[in-house]
Amino acid sequence: MFFHDKTYDIDELARWNLHIHTNFSRCAKPEMVARDIVKTADEAGLEIIALTDHNYPHKPNAVAQQRYDLTRELDGFERNVKVLIGAELSSYGINKFADDIACDNSLDYRLYTTNHYHQDYWEHPEAKTPRAYAEHMLAIMEGVIESGRADCFAHPFMAGYVKAFDDFHDVTRAFKDNEIGDIMEKAHKKEIAWELNVPAIFGDHAFFNRYFHIGKEVGVVFNLGTDAHALSNVDPKKFADELKRILY
Ligand SMILES: [Zn+2]
Ligand SMILES: [Zn+2]
Repeated sequence: MFFHDKTYDIDELARWNLHIHTNFSRCAKPEMVARDIVKTADEAGLEIIALTDHNYPHKPNAVAQQRYDLTRELDGFERNVKVLIGAELSSYGINKFADDIACDNSLDYRLYTTNHYHQDYWEHPEAKTPRAYAEHMLAIMEGVIESGRADCFAHPFMAGYVKAFDDFHDVTRAFKDNEIGDIMEKAHKKEIAWELNVPAIFGDHAFFNRYFHIGKEVGVVFNLGTDAHALSNVDPKKFADELKRILY
């Protein structure tokens, strides 16, 4: 489902940060304690945040317990910001999901990643070509859309974790405009939003400029996420000028 109005104004989008890791994610800094994240978001005047820790196929449904623990940590903690307790969920192959659908549906926000190719359990296409990776990612996204499990795609199309090529941008160059538009439209009809993921955008200006313009044309909902692993990245407003320069 959608959590806010549709807008293509970066300053408006920067009031919401729908991709933040807590210290439940091994990759996040120990300072990412739920209450301190919420306090930081309140001080920055944010309106909605989402806590989105990773899940793993070898630890099925662990995010349901995490959700319970985070809810308890925040219980009674006064705040203005609306907090969604979700997860960055993995579709690690075509129609491959780490958790039961009931676990996914118990979360406030289901942010689906389709391209964590650096993880040893992630499936790869048979052919090691940029086009094969692009097709593989599209097929995983199709599966997620059909599954009805997602509210948003995390850093969609991003190829930074594909280590097979000298230049990972060859993979994003292999997506055709009509493919991007078609899948965006399909997801939109199922109320799945598309993430403007700050580190992904900073790593691939040309692709994400294309992505932003195609998404606008199709009329999708974009959700902004900084993929924060440190408190200094909880407030997206500090990235707004750079994002405008790249995307507009
Ligand atoms: Zn990710
Ligand atoms: Zn993340």
